[in-house]
Amino acid sequence: MLATRLLGLNDIRTEDVPIPTPAPGEVLVRVESCGICGTDRHLLHGEFPSKPPLTLGHEFAGIVMGCGEGVTIPEGTRVTCDPNTWCGTCANCQRGRVNLCLNNVATGIHRDGGFAEYCAFPAHKAHILPADLDPLHGAFCEPLACTIHGIDMGAPVAGERVLILGGGVIGMLALQLCALAGAEVMLLTRSPDKQALGRRTGAALSAATEDEARHIWPDGADLVIECAGVVETVEMAPRLTRAGGRVVILGVLPAGQKVQIEPFDLLFREVQVLSSFINPFTQARAAAMIAGGTIKVAPLISRTLPLSEAAAAIAAPARRGEIRAIVLPSG
Ligand SMILES: [Zn+2]
Ligand SMILES: [Zn+2]
Repeated sequence: MLATRLLGLNDIRTEDVPIPTPAPGEVLVRVESCGICGTDRHLLHGEFPSKPPLTLGHEFAGIVMGCGEGVTIPEGTRVTCDPNTWCGTCANCQRGRVNLCLNNVATGIHRDGGFAEYCAFPAHKAHILPADLDPLHGAFCEPLACTIHGIDMGAPVAGERVLILGGGVIGMLALQLCALAGAEVMLLTRSPDKQALGRRTGAALSAATEDEARHIWPDGADLVIECAGVVETVEMAPRLTRAGGRVVILGVLPAGQKVQIEPFDLLFREVQVLSSFINPFTQARAAAMIAGGTIKVAPLISRTLPLSEAAAAIAAPARRGEIRAIVLPSG
């Protein structure tokens, strides 16, 4: 089969490799769809820790084709993979903070992932999706699960103002979740196309710049969710937060990147800054929302591409205006 593999720093190739055999406790899926994530680009450039050589792809869904010993998921079942497999025994797992597991083995980051025709992964990390779901939609379960964790931390409630910074896939998913919670949502992104998409999918308001956002909401937002993963938006997040409000940082900056914030301002206005990491027990809720069509993901699909184009697409920066590119490994 073909698999798109990270072989080392800035070295990604699509190669012929054997179809994996599911080990005891694992499931083998034929991958239907796998999203290209900013994290894949960070992995390629050594800005996010991983252990190459391995097949990338951590946002995928597919059809069960076989089971290892002890697994009874029927062949033909559509499932989404929760890539994060915690150990259950480290100090953080024992305190219930499984997303902070010291030994997390993430499919597509530490073990072979979904940019391949087939992928084997732990069966307890497979969440069942409906047989009649659009196969492309399954690729959104993982980014939605991560976004749900961030929204749980920020805890928007009905009538609050929520400002979303960044119009990528996480920003677009976050704005829908906050709108569903009854919040008044503003999307800040420089892209007019992304502003329009945000307003079609749940944002009441949009802004292109910090000044524009402040003009619309002079007191700031109750909750600001940073989804762009760039220095500029992380730094503006507390400034656009109302006194007593919260900031949640969901965007991923390169490891080692520093930003400037003013602790006195955080203190004097009691602004909480929270950060959200991956998807502790949120993949089932994400799968349910995708299965039920509660979250609209069709408008977030910018393009689809075959596996043969995945390496080049990951090596290039995201296209201008692109929300999500989805690889179709099974053709
Ligand atoms: Zn991702
Ligand atoms: Zn652990």
